Amino acid sequence: MAIQILPARLANQIAAGEVVERPASVVKELIENSLDAGASRIEIDIEKGGAKLIRIRDNGQGIAKDELALALSRHATSKVSTLEDLESIMSLGFRGEALASISSVARLTLTSKPAAQSEAWQAMAQGRDMDVKLVPASHPTGTTLEVQDLFFNTPARRKFMRTDKTEFGHIDEVVRRIALSRFDVDWVLRHNGKQVRQYRAARLPSQQDKRLSAICGSAFMQAALKVECEHNGLRLWGWWVLPSGARAQPDVQYTYVNGRMMRDKLLNHAIRQAYGERLAPDTHGAFVLYLELDPAEVDVNVHPAKHEVRFQQARLVHDFIYQVLAQALEQAISASSSGQTLDEPS
Ligand code: ADP
Ligand code: MG
Repeated sequence: MAIQILPARLANQIAAGEVVERPASVVKELIENSLDAGASRIEIDIEKGGAKLIRIRDNGQGIAKDELALALSRHATSKVSTLEDLESIMSLGFRGEALASISSVARLTLTSKPAAQSEAWQAMAQGRDMDVKLVPASHPTGTTLEVQDLFFNTPARRKFMRTDKTEFGHIDEVVRRIALSRFDVDWVLRHNGKQVRQYRAARLPSQQDKRLSAICGSAFMQAALKVECEHNGLRLWGWWVLPSGARAQPDVQYTYVNGRMMRDKLLNHAIRQAYGERLAPDTHGAFVLYLELDPAEVDVNVHPAKHEVRFQQARLVHDFIYQVLAQALEQAISASSSGQTLDEPS
């Protein structure tokens, strides 16, 4: 075959393979957009595990009428414009790919109203053509993204979707994890019209504990130690459960870097090492930990789904996390042997 430039839709569908693995990945991308738009309330409606409908409604800054079509095109982003921007990124998004990718594998409807615009407009990107139609709509300030019939035109992907229950489980997990990254946001999650989760904006520590307990379980909450330490521009804070409490825990292992949820090998390794020998072979630690550092020290553009990061000073970051946690562990254990609050693993 001769070399040829791929048609736009096909190029988007190929890119979609990297970003949109399953309904939960759509939910993650859309929520991140809402957070980047400064939303303080995000409502998520799911039907049939997300296969039929994913609807995210926010009260963020909205998208102007003449930018709606642009928002749906590939490499279109309002978040970075120069390489320097990319090197110190604060927003969750920056690739300008999510909406283009999603609209190439689903029927997408985008309705939005910025505060400065008197009426709302709606854009639809459905079916095979890339044409975007604009119609007037009714919507308060903010944005609603509706994704219907995910993978309707990519049967191979569709086949990989599991039962509604399984797919919804993944969505629920994404919402829980992101809800722990933004205590100041109101969250509502519904499945097939039924409210499944509601987390009210939590500003006071006691309210935050309540959310933590709702998401991670009261057993986690009771066993959790709070850590907080800052050194040389690195800050680690959060909650973690000591080995003695770890056995009873479900798999709560959440890490965040500058507010972005992560599955990062380096972080997990440092945490695991801090638990050390105290963790019995088939047990896992449980933790919700936040690392904050200068964004210029982290490269977030490593993975299309942005799950991984690269640290400029990997060793330093690793050792910092290890030391903070190992020290906290030592202190807690010596406190428990002189006091009596914590039991050692038998
Ligand atoms: P990225 O988030 O990487 O910029 P996306 O494809 O996810 O790329 O979104 C494209 C653009 O559409 C964003 O840069 C933003 O300007 C706009 N946008 C998307 N979702 C929203 C939203 N919920 N509220 C306001 N603007 C949005
Ligand atoms: Mg985005």
